[in-house]
Amino acid sequence: MKVTVVGSVNMDVVFEVTALPKPGETVLGSGARSVPGGKGGNQAIAAARAGAEVTLVAAVGTDANAGQLRDHLADNRIRLDGVLTVPGPSGTAAIVVDADGENTIVVAPGANGHLTLDSQPLRDLVADADVVLLQLEIPLDTALVAARAARAAGVTVMVNASPAGGDPALLGELAAATDVVIVNESEARHWTWPVPHLVTTRGAQGATHVGDGRDVQVPAPAVEALDTTGAGDVFAGVLAAGWAGDRDHALRRACAAGALATLVPGAGDCAPYDEAIEDAVVRD
Ligand code: ADP
Repeated sequence: MKVTVVGSVNMDVVFEVTALPKPGETVLGSGARSVPGGKGGNQAIAAARAGAEVTLVAAVGTDANAGQLRDHLADNRIRLDGVLTVPGPSGTAAIVVDADGENTIVVAPGANGHLTLDSQPLRDLVADADVVLLQLEIPLDTALVAARAARAAGVTVMVNASPAGGDPALLGELAAATDVVIVNESEARHWTWPVPHLVTTRGAQGATHVGDGRDVQVPAPAVEALDTTGAGDVFAGVLAAGWAGDRDHALRRACAAGALATLVPGAGDCAPYDEAIEDAVVRD
């Protein structure tokens, strides 16, 4: 199964504080950690660990983080010939988390904001896949070009419509070139376009799938969730990896993988591997 992910990569810089700073306030944090992230990178890693052959189309900058971001992806067996280097900083997120797990996040898109599919070799990486997986942390025009290139080549287009928002006219055009949309419950309120398959993740309740003329509830295994960040990215990557096979099983695997991701803190490295996913699948 060949999955091409077109999306963002970021360096997440995580600060832990007792209480979040108020405007104008400076607080001391413990342990600033740099963790590779971004929805595109996270979903690519989840798909690769689930067993897919994954190519990433993305952009990193010319800063010191770029090498670490590439290494992390390469360590996860992701093909990097579609990862461009553009002048300036890589995408960076500053994440401040307090003792209750409440957080504030600032994202500077950096290189992600300059990702285009202007070159034919990049469009070929899209056309050569079985499934193309997109998210909305890159320019919407770029996502649209990717979806259309995939559609023209007969490749299944899957869009994780996250973060919600963007120009409604462009989103409508994207919907028209998309086979499968994945949203969580809050993003579902913003997604108003009909698509052949709509998959909505529902936290501990698992997910629903509306498509193929049916509306089904897919269970997630019961877990003691520790940190749900990243669960949605893992779900999307694992669903893309399995979509072309037995669809019900692919949905159950995505739910199982999302549940396992909640057992690991952070978003960057919480994707489970194939065998653990299979063991966790809820069976009737
Ligand atoms: P997001 O992280 O985008 O908000 P969800 O919270 O819906 O998305 O989580 C994505 C998937 O992860 C769910 O469909 C489910 O399979 C799994 N998941 C998330 N939270 C839990 C939980 N508390 N218990 C079991 N599975 C969970």
